Amino acid sequence: MQAAVFEDIEKIAVKEVETPIVSDDSLLVRVRSCAVCGSDIRIYHYGNPRVKPPQIIGHEIAGDVVEVGSRVRRFKPGDRVAVGADVPCGECAFCRDGIGNNCAINYAMGYQFPGGFAEYLLVDPLVINYGPIHRIPDNLDYDEAAIAEPLACCINGLELSRVSLGDIVVIIGAGPVGCMMAELAKIMGARKVIVSQRSKTRLEMARKYNIDVLISATEEDFKQRVMEETDGQGADVVVTAASSLEAQAQAITVVKNRGRINLFAGLPRGSAPLVLDSNIIHYRECYMHGSHGSVPRQHRMALELLSSGRIKAKNFISHNFPLSQIMDAFETVESRQGMKVIVNP
Ligand SMILES: [Zn+2]
Ligand SMILES: [Zn+2]
Repeated sequence: MQAAVFEDIEKIAVKEVETPIVSDDSLLVRVRSCAVCGSDIRIYHYGNPRVKPPQIIGHEIAGDVVEVGSRVRRFKPGDRVAVGADVPCGECAFCRDGIGNNCAINYAMGYQFPGGFAEYLLVDPLVINYGPIHRIPDNLDYDEAAIAEPLACCINGLELSRVSLGDIVVIIGAGPVGCMMAELAKIMGARKVIVSQRSKTRLEMARKYNIDVLISATEEDFKQRVMEETDGQGADVVVTAASSLEAQAQAITVVKNRGRINLFAGLPRGSAPLVLDSNIIHYRECYMHGSHGSVPRQHRMALELLSSGRIKAKNFISHNFPLSQIMDAFETVESRQGMKVIVNP
């Protein structure tokens, strides 16, 4: 089969590799769509301790089940399935508690398990038994279903931030995830969603989403503008959806008393530590937390939300590339020229 193989830092080769062979407990998916995630690009540039090259990366996946092992009961050939990223081991204390994204082993598709930038994907028994693999609702195509993975991460983030009726939510970063999160916050009851963004192209692209206030961070004073929009009180929830230390530092300055700050976007390895005025947290009695990945329930919920049309996946897809042009797909994401970019192997 054709696969994009991550062979080393700054080296991905599209080439012919062995098509995986199904065991009694695994199944084989013909991948139709695999969306590019910012983390794929970070792996390409910096590597990741959980990814041992050569490995096929990519974890926002949709395709067709083409073969199942003799003991697999949950799926059959012909099933259209979406596959997410985080795979619970099913046995550690966190997985037993239902928070498999906090799993002690932290398996993921496109990390320890081969990912979706290939014609075929072997789905491990752990994924079939505990992981994020769900049938695609009939009214979604493969590209749309692949979007369920990043949407699931947004659901996890906003659930942990306890976004609720009447909240004002600030999101720093208007990339695909920031914009998706903005629309999700509205569905969860936010009365006003404010999104701030530095890049002009991104800001323009963000205009089509259900966002109440867009702040051009290079032209306006972010803090002052948020305070104006919140009657001087700050936001109930502030989420960083940009991988920058500055975004994290800014987030703390606009949170309301008893508000929640979600450090959603991770920082590149080796980033300087965040320096913050902890008295803000002390006096405002606010909460600071993180979130990463999602659990299978949220991946299923994301598919249902997309199927309902409350969030329109098509609105977030800007480009498609064949597998042979995966580097162009990466470049499109990295240069911020697109929103979600899909590779179709
Ligand atoms: Zn992702
Ligand atoms: Zn576990």
